[in-house]
Amino acid sequence: MFRSRRYRVDNETIVLVLTILLVLAVIVITSTATFCLSGVFILGMFVISALMIRSHHQTLLRQTLSINDNNTPELSALVSECEAKLLPGPVNVFLAGKNEMNAYTFGLGSPKALVLYKPLLKVMNAGELKFIIGHEMGHVALGHTWLNTIVGGLAGIPAPFGAAIILYAAFRWWNRMCEFSADRAGLLACGNLNSAVSAMVKLVAPTIRSQSEFNQALAMIDAEDDQASNRLAEIFQTHPMIIRRINKLKEYVRTTEYQQMQAGVNRNIRGTAKRSAPRTSTPVVHPIEPVVETKPELPPEERWPWLKPKDKS
Ligand SMILES: [Zn+2]
Repeated sequence: MFRSRRYRVDNETIVLVLTILLVLAVIVITSTATFCLSGVFILGMFVISALMIRSHHQTLLRQTLSINDNNTPELSALVSECEAKLLPGPVNVFLAGKNEMNAYTFGLGSPKALVLYKPLLKVMNAGELKFIIGHEMGHVALGHTWLNTIVGGLAGIPAPFGAAIILYAAFRWWNRMCEFSADRAGLLACGNLNSAVSAMVKLVAPTIRSQSEFNQALAMIDAEDDQASNRLAEIFQTHPMIIRRINKLKEYVRTTEYQQMQAGVNRNIRGTAKRSAPRTSTPVVHPIEPVVETKPELPPEERWPWLKPKDKS
């Protein structure tokens, strides 16, 4: 049997080696370029975010009310209490007139900005407002405001379609974990699970006027995670479903860690004087109506008796 392979031309092997080396070189060069471009992209995103944040902060300073003891004494007292409990660092608190049940915080440097929308003040009682303010201060204290810019930039790097979806979903997953953490801060700020729960229900059902309406709203919230489509949609949302947030807080209040944390933050406010100086030198742009309901209220346990047996920790 004659099995010679000497008919292979000399250049075939040389060209094979050269081709493999070339492919490896291209892989190294393109991946290095992608890595560097990703760095440039992230840096660019960071700079753009920083500029947008600064511009937004300046707009708020010009167009909204920066709250202090003189223009909104009751709200300012609530802010001071939350601040004293959670120690989030310097925060400017603004009251914006937008007709939404919302609050948010942002900022890369110091101070951070916390924006409350006016409708919150018409709907929420003092305990519920402390939950909302504490939640936002929790975001500040845990560094979510600046981390959001960096992690968002990382998740936004140009990537093939499938990978882009995975990066986006991962970013949103982290966003939802941040919400759970901030909810704990809100709970520590208000010190009452019922206030935290009613605040979250009112965020999505601000028009409730009676116990039965509250129960109806809660039943709808409770049913939200029954549908597979809602659970799927949650993957790409910044906030978890409200019922998940409520359940997480219910779990948290039963832990000794919570008891210790609550006792610790409560100690922070003993003997704390009211904040006396305005938080910024910005003049008040426009007066507002009284911000915190002054009518006497029942304690939350009596307002929402259905919560009583389950929520006692
Ligand atoms: Zn939040």
